[in-house]
Amino acid sequence: MSNRYSRPDKPVSGKWKKLRDLMIRSDNRICADCCAPDPKWASANVGVFICLKCSEVHRSLGAEISKVLSLTLDEWSETDMDSMIQVGGNSYANSIYEAFLPKDYPKPKPNSSNEERTKFIRSKYVSQDFLTPSLRIVSSKMSFQTLESGKDLGCSITSNSSKKNEEMGQFLGNLKVKVVRGSNLAVRDMLTSDPYVVLILGQQKAQTTVKKSNLNPVWNEELKFSIPQHYGALKLQVYDHDVLSADDIMGEAEIDLQPMITAMMAFGDSELLANMQIGKWLKTSDNALVKDSIVNIVDGKIKQEVLLKLQNVESGEIELELEWMPLDE
Ligand SMILES: [Zn+2]
Repeated sequence: MSNRYSRPDKPVSGKWKKLRDLMIRSDNRICADCCAPDPKWASANVGVFICLKCSEVHRSLGAEISKVLSLTLDEWSETDMDSMIQVGGNSYANSIYEAFLPKDYPKPKPNSSNEERTKFIRSKYVSQDFLTPSLRIVSSKMSFQTLESGKDLGCSITSNSSKKNEEMGQFLGNLKVKVVRGSNLAVRDMLTSDPYVVLILGQQKAQTTVKKSNLNPVWNEELKFSIPQHYGALKLQVYDHDVLSADDIMGEAEIDLQPMITAMMAFGDSELLANMQIGKWLKTSDNALVKDSIVNIVDGKIKQEVLLKLQNVESGEIELELEWMPLDE
C-alpha cells in the first residue's frame, strides 16, 4: 500500500491506467458530495469519487443505487472501470446530478453531520431532486447560474453568469431540425398524396419540399430555428400539396424542446464531452412520441432523434433529427 496508484500484483491494464489518470484530475481530488479532499472511494455505477464518510452513506443506499468500491483495496472489474471512465469524473457527474441544485441549497461539508450528509446524498441520487428539469428553466438567468456552479462541483459558488446572459441576447441558440422521412402517410388524392412538412415555432415557420405521389417520402431536409428564452413547443404539420384547391392536412404533432434545452443548459460545453446520453423526452399517452426520444452527445454535438406518430389523422409517422447549435456557430 505504499503507492495507491500502482498495483504491483497485477499487470496494469489500459483501463486501469485511464481510471488512474481520471483519479488524479483536480475535480476528482475532492469528494463529489462534500468536497472533502483526497477521496479514496468511488461509486462505480454513478461514476463519482467520494470520501470515506460519504462512501458509507452511498453503501447504505444499496448496490443497485450506488456500487461503492475502494480505489486502493477493491478489485475493479472491467465493467466498473468502464462506467467510471464513461462518466468522466466528478464534475461531469455533478453536472447531471446537481444540474438543478438550488444556489442556496446546503451541500454538506467535510465535517457535516451524518444526518445532513445522508439527507443530501439521498436527495441527490435516490430521489434525484436536482436532476429533474424544473420550471426554472424558463427563467434562464436563474438556471444558468445554477448550471455553471454545478460545473465547478458546487464547492465554490461563483456568479459570473450575468455577462454570459447579456452576450447571449434574446436567443438561447439555434436548432437544426432535419426532417428525415415520413412513413405510412394518409392518402388524400385518390390513391396517394403529395406531402410536405411544415414546422412552426412561435412566429418562425419553415417547410420542406413537396414529394410527389409518395406515402413514404424521404426528405433529409434541414430547417433551422432560433430558440428564444421563452420558447414553446415546436409544431409540426404535414400537408398534401394540391394544385387545384387548398392543401389538405395529413396530421400534426408537437415536439417538446425542453428535454434537449434542459440537457444543453446542464451540460454547457458539449464539445468537451464524450459521447453519452444526457437527456430524454419520454413517451406518454398524451404526446405524439412513438418511443422515448433520447438526447445524446455525438461527437461534441447535442442531438436528438424523434419519431412521431401524426395526430388527428388515420395514419402516418415522421422521423426527425434535432441538433442544437450554440449561438457562436
Ligand atoms: Zn464526502
